[in-house]
Amino acid sequence: MKSHTQVAVIGGGVVGCSVLYHLTKAGWKDVVLIERDQLTSGSTWHAAGGFHTLNGDPNVAKLQGYTIGLYDELEKISGQSCGLHRSGGLMLADTPERMEWLKMAHARARYLGLETELLTAKEAQALFPLMEAKYFVGAMLDKADGNLDPSGTTHAYAKSARINGAEIYLKTRVTDLKPCKDGGWDVITNQGNIRAEHVVNCGGLWAREVGRMVGIELPVLAMEHMYLVTDEMPEVVTFNKERGHELPHAIDFKAEIYMRQERSGMVLGTYEKDCRPWQPRQTPWDFGTELLEPDLDRIAPSLELGHKHFPAMAKAGIKRIINGPFTFSPDGNPLVGPVQGLRNFWCACAVMAGFSQGGGVGLALSQWMVNGDPGFDVWAMDIARFGEWATRSYTNEKVRENYSRRFSIRFPNEELPAARPQQTTALYDAMIAQGAVMGDSWGLETPLWFAPKGVEPKDIVSFHRSNDFKHVKAECLGVRNGVGVTEIANFAKYGFEGPGAEAFLSRLMTNKMPRTGRLILTPMLNPQGKLIGDFTIAKVSDDRFLMWGSSQAQKYHMRWFEKQLPADGSVMVHRYDMRLVGLSIAGPRSRELLQRLTDEDVSNAAFKFMDHRAMDIANLPAMINRVTYTGDLGYEIWVMPEYQRRLFLAVQEAGKDLGLVNFGMRALLSLRLEKNFPTWYRELRPIYGPFEAGLDRFVDLTKNDFIGREAAMKEKQSGGKLRRVTMVVDASDADVLGDEPIWHKGQVIGWVTSGGYGHYVDKSLAQGYVPKELANDTAKSAFEIEILGERRKATIITEPLFDPEAKRMRG
Ligand SMILES: Cc1cc2nc3c(=O)[nH]c(=O)nc-3n(C[C@H](O)[C@H](O)[C@H](O)COP(=O)(O)OP(=O)(O)OC[C@H]3O[C@@H](n4cnc5c(N)ncnc54)[C@H](O)[C@@H]3O)c2cc1C
Repeated sequence: MKSHTQVAVIGGGVVGCSVLYHLTKAGWKDVVLIERDQLTSGSTWHAAGGFHTLNGDPNVAKLQGYTIGLYDELEKISGQSCGLHRSGGLMLADTPERMEWLKMAHARARYLGLETELLTAKEAQALFPLMEAKYFVGAMLDKADGNLDPSGTTHAYAKSARINGAEIYLKTRVTDLKPCKDGGWDVITNQGNIRAEHVVNCGGLWAREVGRMVGIELPVLAMEHMYLVTDEMPEVVTFNKERGHELPHAIDFKAEIYMRQERSGMVLGTYEKDCRPWQPRQTPWDFGTELLEPDLDRIAPSLELGHKHFPAMAKAGIKRIINGPFTFSPDGNPLVGPVQGLRNFWCACAVMAGFSQGGGVGLALSQWMVNGDPGFDVWAMDIARFGEWATRSYTNEKVRENYSRRFSIRFPNEELPAARPQQTTALYDAMIAQGAVMGDSWGLETPLWFAPKGVEPKDIVSFHRSNDFKHVKAECLGVRNGVGVTEIANFAKYGFEGPGAEAFLSRLMTNKMPRTGRLILTPMLNPQGKLIGDFTIAKVSDDRFLMWGSSQAQKYHMRWFEKQLPADGSVMVHRYDMRLVGLSIAGPRSRELLQRLTDEDVSNAAFKFMDHRAMDIANLPAMINRVTYTGDLGYEIWVMPEYQRRLFLAVQEAGKDLGLVNFGMRALLSLRLEKNFPTWYRELRPIYGPFEAGLDRFVDLTKNDFIGREAAMKEKQSGGKLRRVTMVVDASDADVLGDEPIWHKGQVIGWVTSGGYGHYVDKSLAQGYVPKELANDTAKSAFEIEILGERRKATIITEPLFDPEAKRMRG
């Protein structure tokens, strides 16, 4: 073993081998992989080897597409067969809702450049004669689906990496990791030690234990998973003989099973409701290539349905039953990237579909390590998306929920119940008592909408407008015509202190820092000039700033801030988390309401738009920003949590005769649509530049140098490629949800990022990106947006429909 290396990859499963290969491909040759036993000896060796492109997140779907396309390249470089069977796959819908879901997936695949086809049940049966068409309403065919040999593929990655210069140490277990002063790691193994500049945790079934070596508890858990292999089936033999090719894969959502051909028989696997975590506390180090005890009783309901839907399966003999563990994160997507708070410690774990995702994970991580940026949008698998609230027991509950729902529909207005409520504020009970329907916002219970007296506070899940529609409308009208209050504790809040704070923020942000007592809005860019943040910043005093941003991105942003902090200690940054909570009051009568709570002058002359003040309100100390995301006159009131309840009661009391209404996140998101305001993670993501996103007025290219300035200047000169636009959509009972394709003259030219109903302006609205050349095509119905399989006319609007001159906000 060498004594020093640039990167030590821990784990020789498909993911570790892919990371190793991609590092060498990106140009880092001094890299080693350390494997406890043999390559594949974690979960990889007993995988069913299926691959597919479909994923709930379009960016992960793209990475899956990359992975599947990679196998030919690997075979060529390594000379090792991956055992590819590109048989195509069918997803079988048993209900109209599932068919709607497939239509959405099909539409999304269109703009991702993936080829899928919608079929009737009879057409599907023609391709897959094992099925009984009468149990299904339709299907989607994805020709890219297939299966491979897990061991051959892992070795193909490993051989390709070796050819490029990597070394692999087998039968070597990492027993500890010790941080070094220079940011590297002493990697302690049972075969000696190695100093590594970077460590990558690809520990698979032991990723949690490797995490514990550096003092973190990763949100990852292994689940038992069963599939069975049948004896030869005459129906399969006949099909192969007649058609000259294999049967396609099939997923039966109702029975929660997947199937594919294996030799002249079939493989059938289940994601059963009665699922079992494996080794919930600690994975034994001596777990080898043994299998777990099969338990057919647990999957009997799926098998029974499967036998009904695919009668030939009921007659087939079972040759083998495989029960093996593999790992999941709470939302089922991988955990990839550098770990906030640690230097040069990277993760690529919780990869539940190693043969669909392993290549993309390796590509993203290697680019991140070599270039400082993954090169595309990996938010859906970024390890930073989970906060401290994702404890071991939280993970256990969520992983079980996710596993058992793997083949269930998640409706856009559906909040999943496991591990909730995890975090609550002091207003939780009061808001519930007032009819709040709660949603989960980065682990915090946050009001979505309020059911009036006599209405059950519960969402009816649907792809269409649902039971909350008229109540959200009432909340929006209440704000726009009077005044409303909502809780905004779920915003991210940061403090920056020290003599270097202003210069630091000015180097990170595109906008000029505000004067004391003022606010600014500002994007943040990466060196490539892409959007990695969007914030409100207040200058409290010469060396103190407060900043607000997106709650979900708190760890993501802290990781970036910490990376950029000067070494001289002149700046300190911290997350307030729930130590600062708030309310937003908004609407034309919000000033009157605020004035009732304070003896300070809050007139427009004394307290202007974008002012920041510390003042006593209702006898308690608060900080107030004169800004709201509703785009109306309004204020954000920030207090320490011990004051929040009192503040809420005081606001409600003072607002009684002003017609004060409660409003939730859904109304807030509708109100912001009417102002064309973008949201982080939907419109603002690291695949867009600030000019493409229409944030021109928040980018000051004439101030000091800032990260991404050079790229931003180029984007300004060239105009970038895309433009964010707002459209009015000719929708009837379903609005856009995000990720729908945008059509222009019969071609898909863009995609929707978010949208919904603008209740005050009474229009269905969508935001999205189109090529910049088309952004000025404001002709009526020049575009179409595909909603649930139907193309709806859409028209670009260049001005917000509500208050285009911003008189309300500023008045
Ligand atoms: C029954 C079953 C069916 C499946 N079917 C499919 C399928 O059809 N398609 C699909 O894409 N996926 C499938 N999977 C999932 C797939 O197996 C995983 O996604 C994949 O194996 C994850 O690979 P990995 O490299 O992350 O982890 P692992 O394969 O677990 O590899 C981790 C490696 O790290 C090593 N290691 C850990 N700690 C240390 C240490 N301290 N020192 C040295 N070495 C260490 C281990 O020995 C192990 O080899 C299936 C899984 C199971 C169980």
